[in-house]
Amino acid sequence: DTRLDGRVALVSGGARGLGEAFARALHAAGASVVIADLLDDDAGRLAAELGDRALATHLDVTSQESWAAAVDATLGAFGTVDVLVNNAGIANAGPIDHYPVAKWDAVIAVNLTGVFLGVQAVVPTMKAAGRGSIVNISSVEGMLGGSHLHGYVASKFGVRGLTKSLAVELGPDGIRVNSVHPGFVQTSMTSRLDPTAVPIPLGRPALPADVAGTVVFLASDDSAYTTGTELVVDGGMIA
Ligand code: NAD
Repeated sequence: DTRLDGRVALVSGGARGLGEAFARALHAAGASVVIADLLDDDAGRLAAELGDRALATHLDVTSQESWAAAVDATLGAFGTVDVLVNNAGIANAGPIDHYPVAKWDAVIAVNLTGVFLGVQAVVPTMKAAGRGSIVNISSVEGMLGGSHLHGYVASKFGVRGLTKSLAVELGPDGIRVNSVHPGFVQTSMTSRLDPTAVPIPLGRPALPADVAGTVVFLASDDSAYTTGTELVVDGGMIA
């Protein structure tokens, strides 16, 4: 696969789970990848395994300073940033009458403010280059409600809306912005959930790699005329 030859991709939360699968797939398609995560050891191991064209860097998506440092590290290593995958996320849950504001604040800070800060950090470079692709990882919970998932659902609907305002604003600069909405994916985020609790027409929960092809498509020129859209990758869960 040579679709991303010469391109540079930064993946937030790239050390494990979906982000790891995205980093591996982008790298396999020819991109240089930056694995940006709180988990420095896991990110470092993955970068070492990928070898050439891979860099691990520390990132806390809730911090503007941390984003600036991660983008600086990317520019220092690879000279530009063509693709940003805003993947880092957390989940929490609880009935609304026992859902402390601290839980709400935490999930909004990582899942929504983290995306906003990531976009702000890369847009100057992408504008100067006259091109870029931003892929925001939302969820089926950004399309439908989910009991007890108040902050999570609000953050993922927020990511979907932010994607559209950015697509409209940044299209004239050659920057595309799209959202991806995975269903039930087997990662540490879902390890305590029962995958049979929700019917999935394709008959099984997703593995992280099942979502990666969509991210490579949105990162590459195969989707050159696709912006402001939402791609659901859920085995038919919400069909
Ligand atoms: P995960 O917990 O396995 O991985 C999340 C990664 O994000 C971890 O490496 C973690 O260290 C990193 N991270 C968390 N907070 C961070 C921060 N403040 N700064 C930088 N990195 C941070 O979870 P996952 O299932 O791989 O989820 C990845 C994304 O996919 C999330 O946005 C999640 O909401 C979304 N998603 C997951 C599913 C699913 O079923 N697993 C479904 C739909 C959407």
